[in-house]
Amino acid sequence: MLPVVVVHGGAGFVPKERAMQSKAGVCAAARSGYAILQSGGSSMDAVVEAVTKLENNPSFNAGCGSVLTTSGNVEMDAIVMDGKTLASGAVSAVRNIANPVQLARLVMEKTTHTCLTAHGANQFARAMGVPEVPQESLITEYSRMRWEKNLAPDANPVECQMGKMGTVGAVAVDIEGNVACATSTGGLLNKMEGRVGDTPCIGCGGFADNQAGAVSTTGHGEAIMKVTLARLILFHMEQGQSPEAASDLSLAYMKSRVQGLAGVVTVDPQGQWAARFTSSQMAWAAAQKDCLHYGLYTGEHFTQSIDEP
Ligand code: ASP
Repeated sequence: MLPVVVVHGGAGFVPKERAMQSKAGVCAAARSGYAILQSGGSSMDAVVEAVTKLENNPSFNAGCGSVLTTSGNVEMDAIVMDGKTLASGAVSAVRNIANPVQLARLVMEKTTHTCLTAHGANQFARAMGVPEVPQESLITEYSRMRWEKNLAPDANPVECQMGKMGTVGAVAVDIEGNVACATSTGGLLNKMEGRVGDTPCIGCGGFADNQAGAVSTTGHGEAIMKVTLARLILFHMEQGQSPEAASDLSLAYMKSRVQGLAGVVTVDPQGQWAARFTSSQMAWAAAQKDCLHYGLYTGEHFTQSIDEP
């Protein structure tokens, strides 16, 4: 069944006019991750490549296209985890970085820590020679419009936060059976300055362990953290559940226990995979055995050859 890469473009609600872009974005990201796996690359290389592609795509709430804080700034969170060694790296509330997922990988590889935050994460980026980009280059017209709309006195940003998300993430298994995950986000719309969500928290925004599988999550961060969603799914897999059943059980538990909606992509070390969500939509795509699978609405599952444009 190996290898496989599965990506998501965020749990939530995608307006009709943006649906095509979202589907195209996740398919392109899955293709680029799969190309790495096919040429013998590692699952870590594949998930970082796929998430980098999604961060560079302004349709998603990560990197360019990130949502804004109440003060109009971009503060991003990201995590990576390697299932072979359980090594992980994360950044939180980082500014002026085009690809937080790559910085998270550097935290994993070049420091003795697992998470660097805010100013310290930017200092580390400078030391690593990662270029800082102007904040304006990360802000799209769409994210500025939604920010302004939610500053209005009669706006309900909390409701909007629950409904519209767009974090990105990926999980993969490589030909050696190693699993990895990566997740990256601008966080919640009109969040407070300094708010850090589930994404950079190990076991919440992602987890990878060769002995169980890998998960990348998206959804309401405060609720995801209450149930440590990624680790909960892997717990169910350790108890013998398939990726799909473990994902559904955990998402249902999160919904009933803390009334939170979310979405996940999950793999086991054999290459079985799932893309599941309780939100109204989640753009997702998977590539395996030269086949591309993708969908956006509940129950949607299109399949085509990976070579088909
Ligand atoms: N989980 C992210 C956060 O709360 C948001 C999302 O997935 O869209 O920061």
